Amino acid sequence: MAVKFQDYYKILGVERNATEKDIRNAYRKLARQHHPDLQPAEGKEKAEKKFKLINEAYEVLKDKEKRARYDRLGANWKHGDDFQAYQGQQQGWPGTGAGWKTSQGFGGEFDGYTFSFGGGADAGSFSDFFESIFGGGFAGAKHRPRRPRRGVDIDAELEVTLEEIYGGQEKQIQFSLQDLCKQCGGSGQVGNSFCPTCGGSGQVAEAKTIKLKVPRDARSGKKVRLQGQGGDAEAGGQRGDLYLKIRVLPHPRFELSGDDLEARVTIQPWQAVLGDKIMAPTLGGSVRVTIPPRTHSGFRLRLRGKGMPRRDGGYGDLYLLVVVDIPDQIGPRAEELYRKLAEITG
Ligand SMILES: [Zn+2]
Repeated sequence: MAVKFQDYYKILGVERNATEKDIRNAYRKLARQHHPDLQPAEGKEKAEKKFKLINEAYEVLKDKEKRARYDRLGANWKHGDDFQAYQGQQQGWPGTGAGWKTSQGFGGEFDGYTFSFGGGADAGSFSDFFESIFGGGFAGAKHRPRRPRRGVDIDAELEVTLEEIYGGQEKQIQFSLQDLCKQCGGSGQVGNSFCPTCGGSGQVAEAKTIKLKVPRDARSGKKVRLQGQGGDAEAGGQRGDLYLKIRVLPHPRFELSGDDLEARVTIQPWQAVLGDKIMAPTLGGSVRVTIPPRTHSGFRLRLRGKGMPRRDGGYGDLYLLVVVDIPDQIGPRAEELYRKLAEITG
């Protein structure tokens, strides 16, 4: 049995490359225009048919997955053409490969969804065409089991300080997420009316807060995947994931390079010449370090294991960049000594 091809783009009056927003706007406008409740009694039946079709088109085009599957049928179909699945395949239904179990006949499996053209057509809410492509997948079709659908993945950015990484601190992350409207299950309709919760879009913005211990190896550009923290699933599907892209904030004292840190320390000329013990900053607090005698400005002193925590449990190193400072002001006694020094070494 062939079914009639439905051009969902044409039904909504949008181009094939229309954005999600174009589609939503077009749907809302048409749905309002053709809502059966707003029609005179004599035109009701016709309006209902049209309304159903508009909803069907929207159901497919608003959903990335469904739209992609629909687009794969190709652009050569004309509205109302006799549509048969195996024709679709002969005309090059790309990328389905093994999903097709049969090249003749009218049943099979496409992308894991079974369809059957042979049985009695369902007189439900959707066209035979819809059922043949998306068989039983519509969330609002209550007489059918809902198809599990995976929730969406969310991308977000997480800003962390060096201290937060070093201390393995727990951070609260807040974000908002477009999720399926629970009242209407994403269909945008309750009974014959627009869903009051989402206004017919099928989606609601939901604020979420999650807690996360900053990973030891958090570095700029790295992505952390939080499984199941993304969008809600439908009908027992898997929840989406949350991907956090790390951005390490600049630090006033330390510069980060891989797992190592670098910091400047200033010493006085006599410390440079004679050597000294000074207090140097680390992320774990100040430590006493020895400046060896005859230390030149620009010398890098390596403090092993005082860098950033590594994934393997170890730590990077801290390099102290030694800068010899010249005092702006010295007393007469010191100046005298410098003169003497000049005489001796000159
Ligand atoms: Zn809703």
